[in-house]
Amino acid sequence: NLFQLAIDGPAASGKSSTARMAAQQLNFEYIDSGAMYRAVTLAALRQNLSPTLLEDVSKIAQLAATSHIHLHTTFDPPPLPLTHSIPSSSITSSLPQTLVYLNGEDVTYEIRSPEITNNVSGIASNLDVRKVLVEKQRALASGIYDENQNKFSPTPLIKKSPKGTVMDGRDVGTVILPNADLKIFVTASAKVRATRRFKELQQQSYSKRISQIIDFNKVLEDLEKRDKSDYERKISPLKKANDALFLDSSHMSVTEQVDKIVELVLK
Ligand code: C5P
Repeated sequence: NLFQLAIDGPAASGKSSTARMAAQQLNFEYIDSGAMYRAVTLAALRQNLSPTLLEDVSKIAQLAATSHIHLHTTFDPPPLPLTHSIPSSSITSSLPQTLVYLNGEDVTYEIRSPEITNNVSGIASNLDVRKVLVEKQRALASGIYDENQNKFSPTPLIKKSPKGTVMDGRDVGTVILPNADLKIFVTASAKVRATRRFKELQQQSYSKRISQIIDFNKVLEDLEKRDKSDYERKISPLKKANDALFLDSSHMSVTEQVDKIVELVLK
């Protein structure tokens, strides 16, 4: 049986980088469940559908069902070209990356924009959207969802021999994979998380070579708003599963978190 590792936590808790690197070390497949909500949000906004308009709610769920969302994590991406405009601290080429495709189009960067980030929680509170995505996420974890065809396969698809799955999100341990072999709930103070997100946004603007003023207080405010919506929504709120281990990442580097998790998996 494939090992299932569930990692949940609030925005910018560091769970995605940690999950990806743990997957790399363990030869596990990585599934970014949040990226799927982001891709549906992008699809909805492109069609001018609003998560708060009652008449749009079922159309958005329909979009979630018909959209082809394909995630592809590359563990050794080609190095970025070195230019003088990119500070060396922003070069993350050695880190694994998850490419996200929406109906065949690469939307990896677009789904991280502030517009998507500020709308995704609204879309994620839609019960029908959640039903559709949870079904896909479970099928992905058991290898029976064909992302290219947007179809469920009756038998597991042949994969690149991963030994297990790491999925990160908000309800992985509670709803998507309640029987996961190991559940981790990662968090850190809002200030620490906002600082991480702030650095990430700065880095993005460097690598896209656009100069953009990023306001830390706005980053913190948006993060707290998203936290509130994720923790307080009625359906599948962000919650630590009873059997999850708590990991406070406030004073831990990504490497330390990965080492800890890998140790727990191999125990
Ligand atoms: O992980 P990330 O920050 O990219 O997730 C974006 C949003 O998607 C979250 O703020 C949350 O509203 C939603 N989400 C969710 N359930 C998941 C993963 C993400 O509701 N399993």
